[in-house]
Amino acid sequence: MMSKIQSIRGMKDVLPDETPIWQWLESKVRNITYRYGYQEMRLPILEPVALFERAVGESTDIVAKEMYNFHDKSGEHITLRPEGTSGCVRAVIENNMCYNKTQRLWYQGPMFRYERPQKGRLRQFTQFGVETFGMSGADIDAELIFMVRDIFRSLGVDQYVRLEINSLGTLPERLEHRQQLVSYFNQHKALLDEDSLRRLETNPLRILDSKNPQMQEMIEVAPRLLNFLGEDSRQHFDELCQLLDAAEIPYIVNPRLVRGLDYYTRTVFEWITDELGSQGTVCGGGRYDGLAELFGSKSLPASGFAIGIERLLLLIQAVGGDKHISNYPDIVVTYENDKQNVEALMLANQLRSKLSHLKILSDCSGNKIKRQHANALKSGCRYIITLNANQKIGLWDLEKNTNALSPLEDIIAYFAH
Ligand code: ATP
Ligand code: MG
Repeated sequence: MMSKIQSIRGMKDVLPDETPIWQWLESKVRNITYRYGYQEMRLPILEPVALFERAVGESTDIVAKEMYNFHDKSGEHITLRPEGTSGCVRAVIENNMCYNKTQRLWYQGPMFRYERPQKGRLRQFTQFGVETFGMSGADIDAELIFMVRDIFRSLGVDQYVRLEINSLGTLPERLEHRQQLVSYFNQHKALLDEDSLRRLETNPLRILDSKNPQMQEMIEVAPRLLNFLGEDSRQHFDELCQLLDAAEIPYIVNPRLVRGLDYYTRTVFEWITDELGSQGTVCGGGRYDGLAELFGSKSLPASGFAIGIERLLLLIQAVGGDKHISNYPDIVVTYENDKQNVEALMLANQLRSKLSHLKILSDCSGNKIKRQHANALKSGCRYIITLNANQKIGLWDLEKNTNALSPLEDIIAYFAH
């Protein structure tokens, strides 16, 4: 026997049971992007490897370990995008979209990272991302946070997430802090685990992110980047805090919040939930003023965030926020006599043309009437319409448990209210 072919590890099918909640979430998110005046971008899934090496940074986990790279037939070094910001910045520069104007953009789509699959961690996952360009103030950072808050609110999960913010300062501020940090960690080298020893050479800031319980006490008193901020960065951060206060958005300043990507400057934030175990970050974002310059463009202030849609769905499910979403047909049309299948199909058509607000399924199974009814009941529909052998139409209201024969006009009138 031939062996079965299965999906690739960490890549999930979204089955019809689940698509209604996806569609519901997507429509809420779209509505909010619309109301905030953001425009959609549709970006390629394949990008040059060099894009991420330069933007995300070669020492980050994403570039060092997690990318799906390959050479195409002409030898070009290509990758399945691991995140959306780099491609969006590339596109904005390539299409000269920021010449004398600001941009507010969003996208949604699959991202790919070769990580160990587990709950809330996939190799193909979906991000909803927002990027803004040409605005350097704390006000746009705050607007992004308002937007995420509105998204969580509209999905009924706002009370299950908390906002953490920090400032990573500018590159020179970070370098000064980095020196102090490296010398501090060197003094406590004996306490560092293997991962952190590696990071000490490549990306010491990320050691602050370590979850290793044995290192927590030492990390807690490590030099804090917030203390190295210059006047402008400090003011930017204070302004953001004031705006969040004014909008009554609760937040926690977490000096250890560093994020996994190299391109951030000043504001960084995460929305975290305790409902999903260690994969608790549902949204990450921040400012990345230096990124466009890395692509050879002139300086372009920028700020954005990305929500992991699968994690957000897990959260919605964990708190029962998906209860109201139904996948049921309103009406199933069945027929008594084997030869009436075409007439039943036409009947369903007539009903659909008159009752555009209802979901109407036609039983095309070829089953006997008993089985058709059993399947209709299983579908969870509210009404079963049956074309009987005498060409009369029966309407069975399953909720009221009434069953009557009626002319078509009466049936249409019954639903038309
Ligand atoms: P984590 O710390 O969980 O690995 P990250 O810092 O790598 O997250 P980002 O690169 O900031 O994540 O991506 C933004 C969001 O995308 C995350 O907050 C998360 O919700 C989601 N995400 C990231 N990686 C995965 C993955 N492998 N599977 C599912 N969702 C993911
Ligand atoms: Mg990660």
